[in-house]
Amino acid sequence: MFDRDYRIEFANTIASELSGYSKERLMGMDFRRLLSERDIGYLDQMHSEVGIDESKRVCTEMEVLTGNGSKLDAEVCITISEMERGSVKTYAYLRDITERKTMERELREATKRFEKIAEMGDDGIIVFDQDSRIEFANQMASEIMGIAKEQILRQEFFSLIGKRDEEFLEEMVMRGEGVGEKVCTEMSIQTPQNQVKETEVCVAPSQSEDGHIKTYAYIRDITERKKFEKDLRDSEEKYRNLFEKVRHGLYISTKEGHFVDCNQAMWGLLGYRDKGEFLKIDIARDLYANPKDRETFMALVEKEGFVKDFEVDWKRKNGEKITVLLASSAKKDERGTIIGYEGLNIDITDRKKMERELKEANDFLMNLIESSIDGIIVTDMKGDILIFNRGAENLLGYKSEEVVGKMNIRSIYQPGVGKEVMDKLKSPDFGGIGKLASFPILHRRKDGELVEGDLSASIIYDEKGKEIASVGIFKDLRERLGIERELQKMREALLQSEKLAAMGRLTSQIAHELNNPIYGIMNTLELLKTEIPPESKRRRILELSLSEIQRLSEMLRNMLSFSKPEEEKRRPVKIDELIEGILLVMDKQMREANIKVKTSFHEGIPEVMASTNQMRQVFLNIFKNAKEAMPKGGTLSVGTSKEDNRILIRIQDTGVGIPVEIKDRIFEAFFTTKQKVKGVGLGLSVCYGIIKDHGGDIKVESQEGRGTTFAITLPI
Ligand code: ADP
Ligand code: MG
Repeated sequence: MFDRDYRIEFANTIASELSGYSKERLMGMDFRRLLSERDIGYLDQMHSEVGIDESKRVCTEMEVLTGNGSKLDAEVCITISEMERGSVKTYAYLRDITERKTMERELREATKRFEKIAEMGDDGIIVFDQDSRIEFANQMASEIMGIAKEQILRQEFFSLIGKRDEEFLEEMVMRGEGVGEKVCTEMSIQTPQNQVKETEVCVAPSQSEDGHIKTYAYIRDITERKKFEKDLRDSEEKYRNLFEKVRHGLYISTKEGHFVDCNQAMWGLLGYRDKGEFLKIDIARDLYANPKDRETFMALVEKEGFVKDFEVDWKRKNGEKITVLLASSAKKDERGTIIGYEGLNIDITDRKKMERELKEANDFLMNLIESSIDGIIVTDMKGDILIFNRGAENLLGYKSEEVVGKMNIRSIYQPGVGKEVMDKLKSPDFGGIGKLASFPILHRRKDGELVEGDLSASIIYDEKGKEIASVGIFKDLRERLGIERELQKMREALLQSEKLAAMGRLTSQIAHELNNPIYGIMNTLELLKTEIPPESKRRRILELSLSEIQRLSEMLRNMLSFSKPEEEKRRPVKIDELIEGILLVMDKQMREANIKVKTSFHEGIPEVMASTNQMRQVFLNIFKNAKEAMPKGGTLSVGTSKEDNRILIRIQDTGVGIPVEIKDRIFEAFFTTKQKVKGVGLGLSVCYGIIKDHGGDIKVESQEGRGTTFAITLPI
């Protein structure tokens, strides 16, 4: 209590404790000393408010300056009371409100902090009371709901969020269940702007001390997340679909050798009942036909990080083998260690089979081509050789590896022939377009020799009708042409024999006609000889005429035997003995001519059926010719031998030989190289006739200046 001059007249213990002054000190102290400058003004104001009304009490919060120098918040109330003697006293009640003040401040700060925090997160936060009236909403909440912050306050929470899960939440809040717990649901909220937002709404009812229920609602915009989740699901589905639908096997496996996942094509290909069964198998043991291959595969992946086109044999469940191509890459953990593999496999069993069949077919065709005796050469359209078979190797003297891919067909043809062949192939006139039937040709062998042959060729077209290659079949005509030539010779020889036969008939007639007069002349001359003495000069002339006539008669006999008028009976003849006899007779002549005679008779030569006289004539003629061929002397060798079913007689001289030009003519009648007097050219033609007549043959071989060999064969 203080008086008009603010002089304190009474203070209780509490006032003393509150102000920090002792009761004694407070006595007489100016009350205003306890107040701050500002509050002193308030004090006056309070007095004037109270006025003279004793029943009025005015309160205000003030700061009290305490005796120990600190300040403290206090509620100060004053009333007045008029004493007798007219003095007015003021009663001031001081109550310490420091604590209350601090709390209020803390509350304010807490609220601010809460609001700050509430604004900081991405969640919309709404607080509503028991009647669902919104008491607080943060910025995010206003954004998600699409309603300005000011408009949200005092609104009904459940009417703001859409309809769908309203009941659920409302019931939950209403029942007051789960106080202190959080319930969430996803729901779409429609904003006043007609935007639909996917949200997650969580409500957490909480009970205040006074029993009121406040509900905290957290609203999160999950439109993005939803979309992301949907995209993820879609893409997962897309890839799963792809994974399952791919017709090649796709798989993920562990390093240890089990499948973690695979598509249907994979287990289907390997003949398993379902995926579950397949995932149980041991890869190395149950899948690889050769478990070592898996090690190779793993080593490759270890080295490169992947494999591609790795060909391997696998077993199906039933043990059947298939061939697959693997493409696989390593699956690694964070540290980069390989923990498994993922990849795909392609079943190439059919392809392999086809390749094999194709190869077999190809080999078969190649064998066919190779085994042909004819030369087969295939070239591309430029003429470069693609195939050159063994027949061609034999015919042309090249090895296949020398020409395939290295040589052009033109180097085998004579100049210009290549073009001619091509032109004929493309013309319709030689077996049709693209064909050339039988065309005589000269091939050039590797050694330069020209080979007579026959070519037939054709162009090979692809399925579109484009020319891709040409094939030529070359026939070696040498042998055939040789035979033809031989035949031609035989024909000529036959003609020769015919000529000889005709000649024979003619000569025999002439000989017969001449024979009698010549014998007449000879007899007359012999008669004359007896009448002329040997010393007479005429006798010499006579003898000369006689010898000429004798020569003439011998010639006639030759001519007659040539026409073989008196064919002698054939009987077995020992050729050796016959030849020895003749040589014996000729021995003197030979020695005079300085000719050495050698014989070598094969032992046990069978006899031949022959006419002795004719045979004698043959050898006589040939020996005579040999002698005449060796004017300076030499050696005459005669030998016999047996060959199969005939005997061979060789008569060899070391004489002048026969020039090639006349070799074919020596057996002709009247062919001679000798002077008129010496030879008439009938000897060999007679021999030829006799030998042929005996079913034998006579051949000559000769080298000019070296000598001549006659070979006579006679059938046994
Ligand atoms: P000629 O002996 O009367 O000439 P041939 O018919 O006996 O008639 O012989 C024909 C030709 O054959 C001979 O002129 C001779 O040129 C050649 N001839 C025959 N035998 C031989 C031989 N041994 N050596 C060389 N030439 C020979
Ligand atoms: Mg002769």
